[in-house]
Order: sequence, then C-alpha cells, then structure tokens
Amino acid sequence: AAEEGFDIEDVEGAIEAAGHGPLPVLAVVGRPNVGKSTLVNRIIGRREAVVEDKPGVTRDRVTYEAEWAGRRFKVVDTGGWEQDVLGIDASVAAQAEYAIEAADAVVFVVDATVGATDTDEAVVRLLRKAGKPVVLCANKVDGPSAEADAAMLWSLGLGEPHPVSALHGRGTGDMLDAVLEALPEAPEQSFGTAIGGPRRIALIGRPNVGKSSLLNKVANEERVVVNELAGTTRDPVDELIELGGVTWKFVDTAGIRKRVHLQQGADYYASLRTAAAVEKAEVAVILIDASESISVQDQRIVTMAVEAGRAVVLAYNKWDTLDEERRYYLEREIETELAQVAWAPRVNVSARTGRHMEKLVPAIETALDGWETRVPTGRLNAFLGELIAAHPHPVRGGKQPRILFGTQAGTKPPRFVLFASGFIEHGYRRFVERRLREEFGFEGTPIHISVRVRE
Ligand code: GDP
Ligand code: GDP
Repeated sequence: AAEEGFDIEDVEGAIEAAGHGPLPVLAVVGRPNVGKSTLVNRIIGRREAVVEDKPGVTRDRVTYEAEWAGRRFKVVDTGGWEQDVLGIDASVAAQAEYAIEAADAVVFVVDATVGATDTDEAVVRLLRKAGKPVVLCANKVDGPSAEADAAMLWSLGLGEPHPVSALHGRGTGDMLDAVLEALPEAPEQSFGTAIGGPRRIALIGRPNVGKSSLLNKVANEERVVVNELAGTTRDPVDELIELGGVTWKFVDTAGIRKRVHLQQGADYYASLRTAAAVEKAEVAVILIDASESISVQDQRIVTMAVEAGRAVVLAYNKWDTLDEERRYYLEREIETELAQVAWAPRVNVSARTGRHMEKLVPAIETALDGWETRVPTGRLNAFLGELIAAHPHPVRGGKQPRILFGTQAGTKPPRFVLFASGFIEHGYRRFVERRLREEFGFEGTPIHISVRVRE
C-alpha cells in the first residue's frame, strides 16, 4: 500500500508500533531513599514527571510506559511510599512483594554508598522466593571512585551489581541492556504460560466496597477448584474459581482477603496493589459501592484499568441497601462521573444477598469478547469510507484533513491506526471512536486509535 502518499515502510512501522499486546512489566524496588524514583524518572526519560511526594499525599500513579533500544515495557515505581506503623522492614517488604508479584523482571536498587543493610537482605529473600529475574542496581555510583562500593554488593548473591548514577545517568544504559535481557518479549502473565488457561480477573475497588464479601460469595456458592495453580508456587495468591461452568483465575485474592490494616501509606499500598492486580489480569471487575457517592478514588481506579488497556466490568454493589432516591442520584452520578467508561457492561449486585451474581459471568464474557474483537481491514475501510463521506472533518486553514485508510493493528485491547492527509482533531477522533463502537460493539473494552499523518 504505497497508497495515497504513504510509503510501505511507514505504514508497516506504524502498524507494528501500534500492534503490541500487553507489555512486559518491570518493577523497581528497594529501601526508601536509595534512588528508585530518580531511576524511574531516568528510565522513562521524564516523559511523565514523577512528582515529589509531600508526606501524607498519595501518589496514585505507579506504572509508567518506557522504551529502551526499541523495546517497550512498563515500569512499576515503588518510590512513593512512606515508612509506616509497620516499621521499615515490613513496609519495604510489603511494597516490594506487591510489585514483584506483578512483574516479569525486577530492578533491585541498593545505595552503594551505604552498602547492603539488613533491610536489603530481607528484600533479597523475597526476590529469591519469587524466582523472577533480578537486575541488581548499585546506585549513587556518581564517579569511578565509587565503583569499589558497587563491587561490594556481589555479597548479596544476586549476581553482578550494575554501577549506576540515577542522578547523572551514568551506567543506566548498560543496566537497561541487562534489563532487556531479563525481560520476556511479552508478559508471561498475559501470554506465556496462560495460553488456553483460565481467564484472569482482577476484582478491584476502593476499600470497603465489598471485594472480599463478593469473592467469598462467589467462592462459597460455587466450587473453589484449587487454591493454587497445580505445579507452581509462583502465584500463590491467585485463586481458581468455577463460575457459570467455567474456571476463572481471580488474581491477587490475598490482597482482598488479608485485611492488612495500615494507617499511614494505606492508600498508597492500595494503589500499588490495584495496579499490580490490573497488570496481571485480562479483565477488571471494578466494584463500586452504590450506596455512597461515586468518589474520585473510584474514578482513579477506573482510570487505572482503562489506561492499562484491560477489559472492564462495572459492578455496583450493596444494591440491597438502595432506596428509590439513592437509585435516582446514582444514575445521575454514573452519567457525569463515569462517562469515560460508558461502554462497560454493568451489573447491579449485592454480595450480601447474592442478588444478580449470575449476571457477573455474562458481563465478564461480553467484556472479554469486546477486548478480543478484530475487525477485518476490508470492513473497517468500507465503514471509514462511508463515515468520512457523510461526516467529513471540518475545514481548517483552508484545508480539509482526511482519513485515507485504516487498519486494526492489534487486539487486547483493540488498537487502530488511521492514516490521514493532515492533522485530525481530538473531537473528530472521539467522533470516529464513538462510531466505531456503534458499528462494531467493543462493549467492555477501551480502544486505542493512533493517527499517522502523511508527511
Ligand atoms: P527513593 O525513595 O528510593 O525513590 O529515592 P529518591 O529517588 O527519592 O532519591 C533519594 C535521594 O537520593 C534524592 O535526594 C536523590 O536526589 C538522591 N539520589 C538518587 N539517585 C542518586 C545518585 O545516583 N547519586 C546521588 N548522589 N544521589 C542520588
Ligand atoms: P472490601 O474492603 O472491598 O473487601 O469490602 P468488604 O467485603 O470487607 O465489605 C465492607 C463492608 O461492606 C462489610 O461490612 C460488608 O459486610 C459490607 N458489604 C459488602 N457487600 C455488601 C452488600 O452487598 N450489601 C451490604 N448491605 N453490605 C455489604
């Protein structure tokens, strides 16, 4: 398709870039102040600013997209937390555990100028247990004189320490080369071992919406198949549950069941946990407490799932407590506060009474279908042709940008690349997305549209 002024390599490159499925995940862990956030900033090239946290202010963003040597991956930053009531070792362990669980590979950051501490040793034990590939980053090696400090970290038994100055960028390239070697091409969580295996569900929502109640309800009424995946000890927190005659894998159920009561930092842990669960899952069932106003925290959780590109089901829980007035206001709130996921299937449930539990599985299946939908190129272009003829892009500066052709580059979630003769405005993109949804469904899935403009 040296079509319409695009050269074939351009077209193929754009399709390949847009076509990737879920990205492999890298977790950056370590004690406070060793330089994790500084390193994450460096890895993501400061494309997204990691803001300095004020004490007590929760940073809800913990995953970022990064690229090195042409490969893309996600980075989970665990730098945004504070030591809390649990004490330093337990806090470090908790955050590292969540992050490691969701990761395909781990960068363990140690402050080379301090050397290995007991807390570092504790993290090493966790890393051993998890059995994931680890790259040891000996940070704060700002100059050659500090290289000897880095070499001391061989003692941790994690292999070669990579001397790095996250602050100045020294050594980060070599370390990232090692990271790429450690990272699988595609996330194992999503594709590797899971092909043909049970579909993975993350049950998420803010504290007290009823996650653990719902899980207990479905697990008790139906049959809990096994507690652990046969033959692995890698994901002991995932649970296989049979629902509607199908076995599903509920990821990260330990986080739901174990009610760890933290004071300071609790929100941060909840965020990290949610991000980790979402990364591991194909579909997020987002629980919302229908008896209370939809909150900013609910919206953040929705955003997390959408940005991660997961299929989404919205479950409004505690339906048993709703009176007519609340139901009225809930509908208004949904329209205004959750407009960004108007496409998600919805179920109104009660974990207490079991109301509408049977509707959960069909909703999940609908969302996964949408997530995997592939539109043949011929059909897509027939649709685009008609759309553009009926609703051309507005003329700007005497020119009329046109969508020339398009293709679906990938699924899970559906990703489209459109090729255009000029800049396509945001509003028009939204319009195209809306019409794509009307035409092809995509219920329960975010869709990605990228536009390439002819030079
Ligand atoms: P985190 O708590 O592990 O996320 O650590 P931060 O990234 O917030 O860094 C803690 C402190 O160490 C900050 O003052 C950083 O500027 C400093 N720091 C981080 N990396 C380096 C480094 O490579 N060299 C030096 N000298 N300081 C660093
Ligand atoms: P989690 O923090 O999201 O796991 O929430 P829990 O499952 O611990 O539930 C929080 C509180 O809400 C508990 O007191 C539950 O009994 C209550 N709860 C959960 N689901 C329902 C429901 O459907 N109806 C009512 N009335 N209460 C519920």
